[in-house]
Amino acid sequence: MNQVDYLRISLIDRCNFRCLYCMPEGAELQYILKQQLLTDQEIITLLQEVFIPLGFTRFRLTGGEPLLRPHVVDLVSKIAHLPQTQDLAMTTNGFLLAPIAQNLYDAGLRRINISLDSLDPDIFEQIIGNHGRKRWQQVWEGIQKAYEVGFDPLKLNVVVIPGVNDHEVLELAALTINKNWHVRFIEFMPIGNGDLFGDRGWVSSAELRDRIRQRWGLTESAVRGNGPADVFQIPGAKGTLGFISQMSECFCDRCNRVRLAADGWLRPCLLNETGQIDLKSSLRAGISTFQLQEQVRNLLNFKSEINFKQRDPGTLGTYTRTMSQIGG
Ligand code: SAM
Ligand code: SF4
Repeated sequence: MNQVDYLRISLIDRCNFRCLYCMPEGAELQYILKQQLLTDQEIITLLQEVFIPLGFTRFRLTGGEPLLRPHVVDLVSKIAHLPQTQDLAMTTNGFLLAPIAQNLYDAGLRRINISLDSLDPDIFEQIIGNHGRKRWQQVWEGIQKAYEVGFDPLKLNVVVIPGVNDHEVLELAALTINKNWHVRFIEFMPIGNGDLFGDRGWVSSAELRDRIRQRWGLTESAVRGNGPADVFQIPGAKGTLGFISQMSECFCDRCNRVRLAADGWLRPCLLNETGQIDLKSSLRAGISTFQLQEQVRNLLNFKSEINFKQRDPGTLGTYTRTMSQIGG
């Protein structure tokens, strides 16, 4: 079985965007109350006394939008400075990034993924929920700033939705030609917006690769990350193209991660609701971190049995938590 040593930590379930595929406008979302969020100290305690002793050394901060978390730079610094932290990354929508990119870097964050589903500001607004504000430019500035500051690798995440942004795949792929940027295409999952998924479906990574191959050629990259992405490269390009194909391929056997939601629920598999444990309530009830370690160890022992591959196809679109709530 794969060593599970990677924890994705959702810092907050709220977001300043309303992406079509994640938290569409009008969706009734029940936000976690402030007092139910894990505090910074609780996160650090769980890392130091539960996850690190179990071998976790790699962490990603996500959400919701992690940059909405108050004092996020301090928290980054605390996690980055734990002696066992080998890798600390963040996934953000980039909107609030430009002014604090340098601070995040100085605090010890080295890797960042920024979601960018379109290079067209109008389509971007349509995807993120149009509030009559022009937000593409600010996200783009966040990306440029992160690059300038030295985040390496700088990854751009693209969820491909048929009829919305799939015609931009070549343009987005072309961003990797002259810069050491890594564009990752993610297959749209039936989580967050089952209606849109039902209407539009999803585009397979294989189809995207065919389109890119026909335009420039495509080679499998020698660099393979630790994650689920299959990594390719346009010949001669400085950056890479990643394909995350959780709909068309099963990568459960190489899954190395679990997810801690902002309210302290630990989830062993993104797409399966069974087996979650409520670490925050246990911690607040005074259960020893040694016992929590045991609970997590048990969960890890049967994780491979409840991974996505075991899901009942009949449950498509009925997950009770969205990506923003789980910590995608
Ligand atoms: N707000 C941050 C952002 O958008 O990057 C971090 C949280 S977001 C939930 C993390 C990732 O999940 C993003 O790259 C987003 O595109 C992806 N995501 C959200 N809903 C998805 C869905 N239904 N299918 C595939 N990817 C999804
Ligand atoms: Fe917010 Fe990220 Fe979800 Fe978009 S994908 S709504 S930016 S949490």
